[in-house]
Amino acid sequence: MISIKNVQKTFGNHKVLEDINLEVSQSQIFALIGPSGAGKSTLIRTINALEPIDEGDIIVDGISIHDKKTNINAARTEIGFVFQSFNLYPFLTALENVTIAPINVKKMNNSEAEEKGKKLLSMLGLESKFQSYPSQLSGGQQQRVAIARALAMDPKVMLFDEPTSALDPEMINEVLDSIRSLAKTGMTMIVVTHEMGFAKEICDQIVFMADGKIVEVAPPEKFFSNPSTERAKGFLSKVL
Ligand code: ADP
Ligand code: MG
Repeated sequence: MISIKNVQKTFGNHKVLEDINLEVSQSQIFALIGPSGAGKSTLIRTINALEPIDEGDIIVDGISIHDKKTNINAARTEIGFVFQSFNLYPFLTALENVTIAPINVKKMNNSEAEEKGKKLLSMLGLESKFQSYPSQLSGGQQQRVAIARALAMDPKVMLFDEPTSALDPEMINEVLDSIRSLAKTGMTMIVVTHEMGFAKEICDQIVFMADGKIVEVAPPEKFFSNPSTERAKGFLSKVL
């Protein structure tokens, strides 16, 4: 479903992604972990071309994302992206935040989009918040609206960049629960996270990055109990 091949990227003369290769099959969930500055955000952002790449190929569901011939706006409708900082439209209600792209981009009619939006918000525990504005919602609620908004486009894959890092501790679990329920639907996902318990619980593979490189890819049981690299051991000794 997601194929990343020999991806290289530099910012100025700083190599931030060095020969990245990764294959994620349908319904697999990968956690991307590693120290700050490792290149996790840059890598996940290249998957829907929020960041250009210098070399290599990224194929999502058969579409070559960085090919100049690809209609990137069409391709992006297949890829849901959830940011650390929610990024909701402040002057739209929760429901309008969820329906705006299906209406404008997918040309869905208003009533169909609203029905779908209400269903998604309800699934994420926000049935009483359809008409609330982002400023009237807690961080955890805003992030769940952001997840509903991404799902409203029927994406083939979902990408999350530290979805709980901006949240107060008591709100982290409600957002992780939303991602857990998505996992049960068979959604293909890559999640950049510092929530090691969560990564261990729902992910098929842990991808450990440092200094722009993938240092280690392993199933969670293996990675957390017996990492093969000193770099991963050092990282885990600090975060566990
Ligand atoms: P992570 O998400 O793992 O913390 P990032 O992908 O954000 O790491 O950053 C990787 C490296 O790239 C860092 O050294 C960061 O300073 C650098 N970087 C990120 N974005 C830019 C940018 N737009 N311009 C220059 N350097 C950047
Ligand atoms: Mg980051």
